[in-house]
Amino acid sequence: MGNNKSQLVVAAIENGTVIDHIPAEKTYQVVNLLQLEKMETPVTIGYNLPSKKIGKKGIIKVANKYFTDEEINRLSVVAPNIGLSIIKDYEIVEKKTVKTPDTLKGIVKCNNPKCITNNEPMQTLFHTVDKVLGIVRCHYCDKEQQLDKVELCK
Ligand SMILES: [Zn+2]
Repeated sequence: MGNNKSQLVVAAIENGTVIDHIPAEKTYQVVNLLQLEKMETPVTIGYNLPSKKIGKKGIIKVANKYFTDEEINRLSVVAPNIGLSIIKDYEIVEKKTVKTPDTLKGIVKCNNPKCITNNEPMQTLFHTVDKVLGIVRCHYCDKEQQLDKVELCK
């Protein structure tokens, strides 16, 4: 554990995943995207913690859970700059960053009210056009939209 234990804002976990540098206001969207409310292992959510980089941040610690790359990449929709630490025996064994996937299936809603996905009970599908600018194109109506302006599917 080391002697900087007292600096930890949220209790350390023995095994699991720490999601850090979440913009504070996006913390609960991350909870939704990872479906943490359905999780049966202990989940610690730190909210509005001070951060040198981004002002206020959220931290989520999920014990005994390792996410797949697909699950991790979903987070690019709300928080492209967050980092994940994989913890084993209280040590960080791996760090992961979020990558915008080439396709987003059933994660965000289409902005076009006339789009078939807003009028039929079906999953949305988007193709990523520009990962740096966060631009995606709806597979069904071809409308391009900015990831930070789209609504998440519920
Ligand atoms: Zn559409």
